Amino acid sequence: MRQSMLASACLSIALSLTCAAQSGAPAAGAQRFTPIPGYDASAMDTSADPCVDFYQYACGNFAKLHPIPADLPEFDQFANLFEFNTAALHGLVEKAAAAHAAPGTNEQKIGDYYSSCMDTDAIDKRGIAPLQPDLALIAALQSKHDLPALVAHLNRESVEVFLDYSSQQDFKDASREIASIDQSGLGLPEKDYYLRTDAKSEELRKQYVAHLANVLKLLGDAPDAATAEAQKIMDLETALAKASQGVVERRDPEKIYHMMTLTSFAATVPILDAAKYVQLMGSPSITDLNVVAPDFFPALNKAIEDTDLDTIRAYLRVHLADSFSMRLPRAFDEEHFDFYGRKLTGTPEQEARWKRCVQATDSGLGEALGQLYVEKYFTPDMKAATLREVHDIEAAMGKDIDEIDWMSPETKVKAKEKLQAVADKIGYPDKWRDYSKLEIRPDDALGNSMRARAFQVDYQLNKIGKPVNRQEWDMTPPTVNAYYDPSMNDINFPAGILLPAFYDKDATDATNFGHIGAVVGHELTHGFDDQGAKFDAKGNLHDWWTPEDEKKFEQRTGCIADEYSQFTAVDDLKVNGKLTLGENTADNGGMRLAWIALMSRLAEGKPQATTAEQKSEASITPEQQFFLGFAQNWCSNERPEFLRMIAQTDPHSPDRLRVRGVVVNMPEFAHAFGCKAGQPMAPVKSCRVW
Ligand SMILES: [Zn+2]
Repeated sequence: MRQSMLASACLSIALSLTCAAQSGAPAAGAQRFTPIPGYDASAMDTSADPCVDFYQYACGNFAKLHPIPADLPEFDQFANLFEFNTAALHGLVEKAAAAHAAPGTNEQKIGDYYSSCMDTDAIDKRGIAPLQPDLALIAALQSKHDLPALVAHLNRESVEVFLDYSSQQDFKDASREIASIDQSGLGLPEKDYYLRTDAKSEELRKQYVAHLANVLKLLGDAPDAATAEAQKIMDLETALAKASQGVVERRDPEKIYHMMTLTSFAATVPILDAAKYVQLMGSPSITDLNVVAPDFFPALNKAIEDTDLDTIRAYLRVHLADSFSMRLPRAFDEEHFDFYGRKLTGTPEQEARWKRCVQATDSGLGEALGQLYVEKYFTPDMKAATLREVHDIEAAMGKDIDEIDWMSPETKVKAKEKLQAVADKIGYPDKWRDYSKLEIRPDDALGNSMRARAFQVDYQLNKIGKPVNRQEWDMTPPTVNAYYDPSMNDINFPAGILLPAFYDKDATDATNFGHIGAVVGHELTHGFDDQGAKFDAKGNLHDWWTPEDEKKFEQRTGCIADEYSQFTAVDDLKVNGKLTLGENTADNGGMRLAWIALMSRLAEGKPQATTAEQKSEASITPEQQFFLGFAQNWCSNERPEFLRMIAQTDPHSPDRLRVRGVVVNMPEFAHAFGCKAGQPMAPVKSCRVW
């Protein structure tokens, strides 16, 4: 639901603008993708000098071996596992669909959710009829005073218009769940897309306006009227964009935390009638809430006042239809992809319907489907191996804190307190979510989607005023990703990422520490990155640093921000060092921790190479295996349009720069590959936080 609130810091952009991406293991029909081993000699370009360009050395052949499939914006390890596991989930949903299980069971819901999504003949035949009740509500809007009810109705279906109301852990009292209200309502990825003046941005805006007009035409508007309405919608969204918070600002918890009484918030946006809106959202009654972006709401009020009702109705219609485009006749689905896929990310073809319906089932019924997934694909030994590595990395952090020379003993005590309080969550939740109140029908693709979204909204809102559930997960089990949540102070590794190449039981310890060890270290370091370090052991936003230590810490993170700002993301576009600071700090710290843990493991004695993979790895040293494993986490092949979007919106640096940024800061790398001081991968000046 959230656009980009600092709820949690995750490992990778993977394939969507949020953090999610699914994964699994082999299944019928998965021929296009096979697991990439932890040690992938075929991806390497051994003609390259590792001291000049380590990414080229480790991943130089990857793009040739893995051309980007026509239906993807990029291809990397995450995408490979995502595709591979989407096929695994496909097997599970097909089986559920064929079972015709008893109504009300999870199996029936999974099967019907998937098969109704797949039934494009039925969807085409019904046309926009399933949207008609909502369209009628919008058409009936005759006064702006009636907006609160209409906006609440659409927001309950997760149609992102004007604002976003949900729940969150209180930043300053992590034991409680509070209401929060946030900016929303932009069709482009974030505010600067409306404001940049370069040629590419201007062009994209033209394409967006054309897209809005096309959707209105599909809804039955005359071409001339649609074009005029689209421009006015763009004006409205531009006004909202100007008052919206930007991606860098939204990383700072202090800037997205403003507790207000409902009454005083309501006064900032009278046109919304906040008390009525909150009630119509189905929220428990509240007296106060976090106003995430306080400057946005007076501007929202003014924008609505300044906009005529016809434009407001057109704005609501277009976002309603776009939001459900996949459950509408083909032309809507194609129009949506044409802009959001083809234009925005440069992807030529849309993904096959079955893949998208599998992903939709994961999104709608994630813990029901996830339960089937872990039963079949996640074994206790995978959990045990991960847990052992997590404990090793946590021990490494303890050692690192002891040994760093810039932090005072006083702050070190607090840092270790926080470290000891980190909760480790591996694979899947101990208690599964209950879907009994969610109704899924065999022949109602759009209704199923609406009900699943409302179910999710209710789930979030029902938390308000209740104790925090620390067992809860923000990602579904098959997700190829991981995250740290500062309010929970926990690290989370879904089952979906605990597979090759990230964890490969046939590879050496050194390779696995470079792969999954670096991932574990990355998440743990998020608790101590430029923003995570503002939260204490209990998950409260509370400064536990001495002023001198804080200053030294900021100098060190500043070094990382400046360093990455020099890197070119794509064409003329540099990495945004401030936007990516948390992730870059986590990448650097994570590798440091994985290195310390590996050194301890190697000190226990080198195990005999038993698998064919381990025997082939023996041609290089364990230290080299470690850096190679890490670099090969990030072997990738991206479309330039996609890279541009990532560089402008995503807190992660582009994959290949995640390799460079880390190795240049580790003298251990230069030592492992015999690089001379001053070579590109062994600069004289480097940065280190953890
Ligand atoms: Zn991260």
